[in-house]
Amino acid sequence: MAESQSQSQDKASGGKLYVVGIGPGSVEQLTLKARDVILNADYVLGNSTYLDQMESLLGTQEVIRSFMGKEVERARKAVELAKNANVVMVSGGDTNVYGMAGIVLEVAEHESLDVDIEILPGVTAVLAGASILGAPVVTDFAVISLSDLLTPWEVIEKRLNMAADADFVIGLYNPKSRKRKSNFARAIEIIRKYKADSVPVGLVKNAMRGEEEDQIVTTLGEVMEYEDWVDMSTAILIGNGESRIWKSPKKDIIITPRGYHKKYDY
Ligand code: SAH
Repeated sequence: MAESQSQSQDKASGGKLYVVGIGPGSVEQLTLKARDVILNADYVLGNSTYLDQMESLLGTQEVIRSFMGKEVERARKAVELAKNANVVMVSGGDTNVYGMAGIVLEVAEHESLDVDIEILPGVTAVLAGASILGAPVVTDFAVISLSDLLTPWEVIEKRLNMAADADFVIGLYNPKSRKRKSNFARAIEIIRKYKADSVPVGLVKNAMRGEEEDQIVTTLGEVMEYEDWVDMSTAILIGNGESRIWKSPKKDIIITPRGYHKKYDY
């Protein structure tokens, strides 16, 4: 097979490093390419949660488990191993969306690593969530993480103000942690300065993780009633001024019109 042939060639030339977005949760959400490189890896590294989700693909590879907060250490290890082996670093969702791609490349750059590095995309949480909620995005949108571990809170507030003022559909990541309980409430307060209380809001917990998946469709004016429901496994989508809720016979669905109704009759 072309893939395994090219991988053994990579090995002969010293190894290869893949940084792989594994999507929101289940193995079905992997791209075929991601599945292939995981199956053919010598080493698979990642956060324990993500490795557990990929368990059915792990057999012959050496698995190196790491934990949240150990990202720099994990990136260093991956870069080191890639000098002589096929290494896969898995990252939840997409590796470019608050994922491992950046730190792995920074470490590789710092070490002037002379090894092929390939970044493979994955389905990011707000887009997995968007599909569950219906069509809340479809037009311009902004994605903001409420985690102030690596980004100062003033910067996050500025971005919330600007995105809400420009009426972007807004996707929120990292809404809460044990240490940062009030960030979500503060973000909603800021967004409500610009957007109407009737604007639809979708909350999706554990998107595409089987039985654990859960969702709530509400509005900006009422979302704080669900504050306790929101946790670190929740992605949030806040509509724009044209978004609406279709109370379909099956469930509440969020639609943000792209604008076809202005040009066509349907
Ligand atoms: N790289 C990841 C995001 C990492 S930041 C991606 O592209 O999806 C971690 C945050 O992502 C969580 O706090 C949560 O807000 C969101 N998240 C990740 N997976 C999720 C899922 N399956 N369902 C809902 N939110 C999720």
